[in-house]
Amino acid sequence: MTVRVRFAPSPTGELHVGGARTALFNWLFARKHGGVFIIRFEDTDIERNRPELIEPILESLRWLGLLWDEGPYFQSQRFALYREWAERLLRENKAYRCYCTPEELEAKRKAALAAKLKPKYDGRCRSLTAQEEQEFLRSGRQPALRIKIPQSGTITVEDAIRGKVEFDFSELDDFIILRSDGRPTYNFAVVVDDITMGITHVIRADEHLNNTPKQILIYQAFGQPVPVFAHVPMVLAKDRSKLSKRHGATAVFEFRDRGVLPEALVNYLARLGWAHGDQEIFSREELIANFSLDAVHPSAAIFDEEKLFWLNQHYLKTGDPKRLGELVRSFLVKLNIVSDAEAQAVPSEKLTQMVVLFRERAKTLSELAEPARYLLTDHFTYDPEAVQKFLTPDKIALLQGLAEALAVVEPFTASELERATRAYLESQGRALKEIAQACRVALTGRTTGAGLFETMELMGKDRVIARLRRAKDLDFFLSSERSHP
Ligand code: GLU
Repeated sequence: MTVRVRFAPSPTGELHVGGARTALFNWLFARKHGGVFIIRFEDTDIERNRPELIEPILESLRWLGLLWDEGPYFQSQRFALYREWAERLLRENKAYRCYCTPEELEAKRKAALAAKLKPKYDGRCRSLTAQEEQEFLRSGRQPALRIKIPQSGTITVEDAIRGKVEFDFSELDDFIILRSDGRPTYNFAVVVDDITMGITHVIRADEHLNNTPKQILIYQAFGQPVPVFAHVPMVLAKDRSKLSKRHGATAVFEFRDRGVLPEALVNYLARLGWAHGDQEIFSREELIANFSLDAVHPSAAIFDEEKLFWLNQHYLKTGDPKRLGELVRSFLVKLNIVSDAEAQAVPSEKLTQMVVLFRERAKTLSELAEPARYLLTDHFTYDPEAVQKFLTPDKIALLQGLAEALAVVEPFTASELERATRAYLESQGRALKEIAQACRVALTGRTTGAGLFETMELMGKDRVIARLRRAKDLDFFLSSERSHP
């Protein structure tokens, strides 16, 4: 048997981290078993079949590297199929036409609630005579189709994650499979799709567990084998409520735009409810090799952004600097550091060097790109406190001399710069540590950063000399209206 799984989002315009994790578990399961991973959009609500609601989801999956083998399929293009399958149940007397109007059903629902009973369809149309049906049709009513379900007994869902979950038929009613306007209901379309697409394992969000007994009844009505169900527990926020926008970023693209790497998000999502010993860091190959549904924890998982950023830092520290440099390039534009054309013109070695120099202290690509403001442009601000504290008259005088000493350094490399700086300071009877901070503030506007001489090399001679000379003009640094050196 070939494993066939599907990820079946409704088109919402974005992929939420919960959905991304469901997609990932399906993808890992398919890859592990040499199976097929299918994408299907559940868009029976025609209004939702719009590219701007679909494309971001596909793009998020591509970005995460969760490429599909089949699809995307669209339920909105399969209405004829659902009708055909529903009519088959009608012919076999496993479904019937229901002529009740929404108003009638609503009145019954209200009456049940008032009597503190669970609202259920009362089976009024289950055994209409041909004549009664004719009358309804003559009065212009359009029937919906309802499935006939057993009147008593239980149904057991054998869930690969949750174990056995039992449902009593008394909790269910003859539910609608095809609406009077011809559209299928969610449960019916899902089962017809899962049967016709040959789905062997249904791995989906926990919230669908309650739909599963209904879906099993539909499989049974068609005499079809039931797939393995695996309901993945919810993703909660730290306060244990359902993760939502009010907790901050929830969409895959929001993390991408904050500078999270896809491999970090994949690693993080995999560990969200799944474990393999106490290992935290997994390559994609390790995830595929070790993934199994029985190691998915049945209780809810808590989304912990800090852990995601910790993993991201790991991948920034260990990733290929050249590739990371190219990713930083796009952040130069996103962060408004340079224009698109300017970003394209930055030599790739420069970006690679920046990555190597700054990645120890960056948690995101944004943080990694940020030093480019003072390395590649003159549009950065000076921290006024640092200026006041370190750019004292004595230090400024030393920086003037240093500027002249460095102006003749060739090649302008970290080691040559260090040698020249030390020689100059020695001639003045001073030590490097006395001016290191002043020098850094004059060059970068702040007190923290990477190695001073490496920073100088990357900044380039013109900027270094101009900024050191400029240090005598303290007002310049402190004014917000400054024109640039
Ligand atoms: N369309 C459903 C959702 O987005 C998924 C249903 C399923 O996987 O069976 O939650």
